[in-house]
Amino acid sequence: MNIHEYQAKDLLAKHGLPVPAGIPALSVEEAVAAAKSLPGPLWVVKAQIHAGGRGKGTFKELSHGAKGGVRLAKSIEEVETNARDMLGNTLVTIQTGDAGKQVNRLYITDGVDIGKEYYLSMVVDRATGRVAMIASTEGGMSIEDVAHETPEKITTIVIDPAQGFMPHHGRSLAFGLKLSGDLNKQAQKLGKQLYDAFMALDCSMIEINPLAESDGKLMVLDAKMSFDSNALYRHKDIEALRDETEEDPAEVEASEYDLAYIKLDGNIGCMVNGAGLAMATMDIIKLNGAFPANFLDVGGGASREKVTAAFKIILKDPAVEGILVNIFGGIMKCDVIADGIVAAAKDVNLSVPLVVRLEGTNVEQGKAILNNSGLPIVSADDLGDAARKIVAEVKKAA
Ligand code: GDP
Ligand code: MG
Repeated sequence: MNIHEYQAKDLLAKHGLPVPAGIPALSVEEAVAAAKSLPGPLWVVKAQIHAGGRGKGTFKELSHGAKGGVRLAKSIEEVETNARDMLGNTLVTIQTGDAGKQVNRLYITDGVDIGKEYYLSMVVDRATGRVAMIASTEGGMSIEDVAHETPEKITTIVIDPAQGFMPHHGRSLAFGLKLSGDLNKQAQKLGKQLYDAFMALDCSMIEINPLAESDGKLMVLDAKMSFDSNALYRHKDIEALRDETEEDPAEVEASEYDLAYIKLDGNIGCMVNGAGLAMATMDIIKLNGAFPANFLDVGGGASREKVTAAFKIILKDPAVEGILVNIFGGIMKCDVIADGIVAAAKDVNLSVPLVVRLEGTNVEQGKAILNNSGLPIVSADDLGDAARKIVAEVKKAA
């Protein structure tokens, strides 16, 4: 789960990290009031969307499109004009895709005089099974570009969670950022605070870009934070920060039914039980020259309600031209699953070809239910057969 910059900064400030003062705003009036309660003489008006690259982004609706989603303002009037420009309009950045994202919230912050910009992030590193801190002297630009062009300017510090953040990790961080004197000390302290926040909040990623030096002080000017969804149950306060308007509506609906659904770009909808089988199904669709429209794992106990909800979610995607159901009846028996599929297909008035591959307990009864349903359901024997059949059915229907 991702959160907004202002929420991330609030959490980081609670862990002692230096963050400029700021106030979120949902309207132009709130933005003006926020600016008035900050000292000035410089303010920053920041669009709050779950995507980076806002500074260099452009607004679809604005003809003077050059101005992005992060703007400096030297007066309350400028704050007001910029807030009016941004709210309700669609910001397109390198991370939003062409559709962009509508800006519904702003963050008005104290403007900081930047001496130099640095980069600092933390991620769970699957390769080492540890937590990695990544730092660079090249802040304010995308770390992917830095990694590509000047990898020597990136320092990676791997931390053993059993040991925690040790003083030598702090020294490596400050050294990597080429800091001396008091700034060096600040970086060491900040590194420890960031690590403690990351662990305490069960983060999967924190990115501070830029971490800025201003008047001899390090400051967190931008923050992105993602959380491990499997740990959210122990952070009700963080769960409350979820902004569903930032998420794909189909994915939100799926999570209400406890379905693991991720929208993809292809035209073949997939309904599978088990993540591994779902991945294999997607692979084999591709092998047969088509592309999956989604990843969907209905889980072990796929009830009739769940199967119906899954069908509806898949069919809401206008790109879907056929559906492949690939279910292994282990705990759930194949005849029960077949009953669910037939009921769901009737319920949603299925209008695209449907290929079903069932395997497992009571598979013969299951197949008989599908064949006797009177619905144009194509039954398949194995994974390869199923993929070939759905690709052929979609071609035939086109
Ligand atoms: P992003 O474009 O989505 O990554 O948004 P950022 O919050 O990182 O802002 C983009 C850029 O705006 C930063 O890299 C800074 O150069 C600049 N910026 C952000 N806040 C301030 C500020 O308080 N003062 C100044 N002078 N520049 C800022
Ligand atoms: Mg940034």
